[in-house]
Amino acid sequence: MNIEELKNLIKGDVTTADADLVRYSRDASIFEVKPEVVIYPKDPSDLKNIVNWVNDNKSNHPDLSLTARSAGTDMTGGPLNDSIILDFTKYFNHILEVGDKPSGYAITEPGVYYRDFEKETLAKDLLLPSYPASHLLCAVGGVVANNSGGEKSLSYGKTEDYIEELNIILSDGNEYVFNALTSEQLESKKLQQDFEGQIYREMYSLLESNQEVIQKAKPDVSKNSAGYYLWNVYPPAQSEAKRIFDLNKLFVGSQGTLGLITKIKFRLIKPKKYSKLLVLFLKDLAPLGGLVNEVMKFKPESFETYDDQTLKLVLRFLPDLIKKMKGSALSLFFKFLPEATMILTGGIPKLVLLAEFTGDNEEEVDEKLKTAQEAVKEKFDIKTHITKDTEESEKYWTIRRESFALLRKHVGNEHTAPFVDDVIVHVDQLPMFLPKLNELVAQYKGLTYTLAGHAGDANFHVIPLMDFRDEANRKAIPELSEKVYDLVGSLHGSITAEHNDGLVRTPYLGKMYSTEILELFKQTKNIFDPKNIFNPRKKVGGSLAYSLEHIMHE
Ligand SMILES: Cc1cc2nc3c(=O)[nH]c(=O)nc-3n(C[C@H](O)[C@H](O)[C@H](O)COP(=O)(O)OP(=O)(O)OC[C@H]3O[C@@H](n4cnc5c(N)ncnc54)[C@H](O)[C@@H]3O)c2cc1C
Repeated sequence: MNIEELKNLIKGDVTTADADLVRYSRDASIFEVKPEVVIYPKDPSDLKNIVNWVNDNKSNHPDLSLTARSAGTDMTGGPLNDSIILDFTKYFNHILEVGDKPSGYAITEPGVYYRDFEKETLAKDLLLPSYPASHLLCAVGGVVANNSGGEKSLSYGKTEDYIEELNIILSDGNEYVFNALTSEQLESKKLQQDFEGQIYREMYSLLESNQEVIQKAKPDVSKNSAGYYLWNVYPPAQSEAKRIFDLNKLFVGSQGTLGLITKIKFRLIKPKKYSKLLVLFLKDLAPLGGLVNEVMKFKPESFETYDDQTLKLVLRFLPDLIKKMKGSALSLFFKFLPEATMILTGGIPKLVLLAEFTGDNEEEVDEKLKTAQEAVKEKFDIKTHITKDTEESEKYWTIRRESFALLRKHVGNEHTAPFVDDVIVHVDQLPMFLPKLNELVAQYKGLTYTLAGHAGDANFHVIPLMDFRDEANRKAIPELSEKVYDLVGSLHGSITAEHNDGLVRTPYLGKMYSTEILELFKQTKNIFDPKNIFNPRKKVGGSLAYSLEHIMHE
């Protein structure tokens, strides 16, 4: 690759320093892929020049590619690749507008950290409710490209529900604006004699001629990040005139494989003012299915869970956790005493469930909590607790949200190993699914793992801790993936509710989609990116051998 030529084309920065390449060879996944060069593009015209340069050089250098990166907290290897990495956080980091007329919205560049974005939206009493648990670490470009979700997705859905408009640089090197189109607008786009017009014509034809098989392939779960969401682009409506054609439904969650996002317009909501938790302590998993269904009747805003291993590990790293929380270290330390005592006396619950009830006045919230608590007590012999205030709730939220981040920093030679980290089934399958999932993981004796997730959606994060130098562990990764994804596939669930495919799951997409659908994914990629310049091996063209070769070594 002629780096000097590339440098002369753009205003932004370029690095090939080994320390930088090493840094960009990792995300929060189990993989390591060293790029050749990292570029910090300054503006859309830099990106256009880079895309054109790659197009011009691709035939002589078939391995040339462009992989976008925002904050690099992806758990799948999504922002990793061996050619050019484009980091958006250095220059594409401006929030352009936050407003509430006619309703809440924000216009932003993709490299803005979510924590900064949220400060500005909350200042206007607005919120993007699909923020992930990595809200202190991630950036909004990654949130869109992964179709992220989080604790509030139970009530508010995922990022796909909050995108009004995207600016994208496509593989022809031009920037386009995408939004939802009426039938009439679609017809005029299809008439355009340029690359955009060609995309609309070809996608329309692909979707219309395969409509039935595409609609049937839609996973029967409340959240899905796997594959390209073809079924959402041009869904059937009551009348042809009312049909909406929205390519943003395809870009969201596509992991930068179809183009580069340069600007995002989000729809935002007004968050509820008051929130308290009903905490449920389970000694075993047996009542879980019935309990989740019971609590869901009272419509909690979120319904989260973490297990005994999470709690034990969190207590091991308590000083770090306390640093992240508001309040004096001593008072926070005392807050965790009940949990520490539980562990010492062997009374630790197997699973803790957090049902969050919200409202615009405190009485309304208290009433909801009391009713839900009484109903639970009537039917289940379990310990329950209602948090007094936000400060008390924060302890539970911190355990739930921060455990993965904490684990990543610690534990000697062992790494967090997210590879069956995001399975989801239909809520009705929960009573049967969790024991089976546990059984599969328990076959690997000595494998420590934490279980946490979104109980209300039946979406669970199983995160083992592994020493990657141990061959047995490396072997367990594809073995266990195969078994878990077979189970999820047999229940028509999704292999990833929020974290996406990347290197870790692209090879397994066949576990939930037919060969016909996988072929439509390939055709979709080919319509947008015929030379395969954007983030190869993700979504389509993945190879298990490549992924296994790139599991980190230490
Ligand atoms: C502690 C922790 C907790 C997490 N919890 C959650 C959770 O609750 N829910 C959840 O959904 N995820 C979670 N994640 C995963 C991850 O944080 C999210 O997917 C997040 O939204 C990724 O954002 P990012 O800025 O780090 O993206 P990156 O890692 O930089 O990139 C993610 C993907 O987006 C693509 N991309 C980035 N920028 C662009 C762009 N400008 N144009 C086109 N493509 C682009 C990349 O190529 C890559 O494929 C968690 C991760 C960690 C470390």
